[in-house]
Amino acid sequence: MKKITVAKGDGIGPEIMDATLEIILAAGAKIEIEEIEVGEKVYLSGNTSGIANSSWDIIRRNKIFLKAPITTPQGGGYKSLNVTTRKFLGLYSNVRPCRSLHPFVSTKHPVMDVVIVRENEEDLYAGIEHQQTDEVIQCLKLISRPGCEKIVRYAFEYAKQQNRKKVTCFTKDNIMKQTDGLFHKVFDEIAKEYPEIENEHWIIDIGAAKLADSPEAFDVLVMPNLYGDVLSDVAAQITGSVGLAGSANIGEECAMFEAIHGSAPRRAGQNIANPSGLLQGAIMMLNHIGQSDVAEKVQNAWLKTIEDGIHTYDVFKEGVSKEKVGTKEFAAAVIDRLGQKPEVFPAVHYDKNIPMVLPKYKKKQPAKKELVGVDVFVH
Ligand code: NAD
Repeated sequence: MKKITVAKGDGIGPEIMDATLEIILAAGAKIEIEEIEVGEKVYLSGNTSGIANSSWDIIRRNKIFLKAPITTPQGGGYKSLNVTTRKFLGLYSNVRPCRSLHPFVSTKHPVMDVVIVRENEEDLYAGIEHQQTDEVIQCLKLISRPGCEKIVRYAFEYAKQQNRKKVTCFTKDNIMKQTDGLFHKVFDEIAKEYPEIENEHWIIDIGAAKLADSPEAFDVLVMPNLYGDVLSDVAAQITGSVGLAGSANIGEECAMFEAIHGSAPRRAGQNIANPSGLLQGAIMMLNHIGQSDVAEKVQNAWLKTIEDGIHTYDVFKEGVSKEKVGTKEFAAAVIDRLGQKPEVFPAVHYDKNIPMVLPKYKKKQPAKKELVGVDVFVH
């Protein structure tokens, strides 16, 4: 029995979390749930970080966190709980598989199967901003060598473990020669250690265009935080719906699993949201905690449900789908199919999805420095 922390979040969060938990428990997940309250209610009670200190203790103690999306209230003063959690728990790697489910889910890209490995702690996404002058605001783009080495190595190890053939790096190092330049340089260095895996680098703008147009050209993609945030939504959406993809946030000690989409407040409380994204996150969690037999059972039943044309509104298409269902009915359909295998998609078999053990970062020799001047900025 593995104790996990669960947060039901905001908007469609509680509905998709209930559906997800119902499915994995019916499949035999050996988990004990400790629930915490995070998000909107906590923010609006006056806690600007959206989470109580006692909840941090629970998350750190259990180490595995299954989280539904949360709403960050608009306006100044509220810190994004997602950013804080990733940073606070050292969840440096964000893995987002996006595959199309052709011919059962309508998509322009029938053979797409990409995994976006997004750096998760650094870059502009750290949200470090300050006002320089009355009319100028600055946002810091921080990229570190340890951060680059950890995420690039993770991408190659992931590719090796999952029998994937190629890792592609996206940066904009023709412009940001130092920050993105470092990411690209580290990619080239580490790629040499994996000669059996093809590697390539694309400038992000044309790379993103290519991904949106011909995603079948890519396999595993590794990139800095903000690019990965944007492109994983694009990648999930072009498979059919942003509601289909899950996300694993992995650190050295803790891990958090979620859907890639947000709390979709306009869809909340209507029993219409697609629980598949969070369910995919939960499947990655089950693999991570060594319950791959349960993960496999859930994934095969989910694929069979999709094949049977039982679809939520976001992927439902007249002539392609058979039945339009709500969140609860979709969960019930997956539960009905537990033990069954898909007939058109290959059935999945997870035998080696144990967490990867990556070498610890080796601190480099400090560079030789000489004082040549001082920059002072006063306004
Ligand atoms: P969103 O991803 O919540 O929703 C965008 C649209 O996508 C929805 O209106 C809906 O049409 C569709 N959609 C998303 N998930 C769906 C699902 N499961 N089933 C069916 N359709 C679905 O993006 P948003 O509207 O920009 O953000 C809403 C809130 O979510 C914001 O407060 C934002 O900060 C937050 N957010 C949270 C997370 C997270 O907790 N990890 C991630 C992204 C955004």
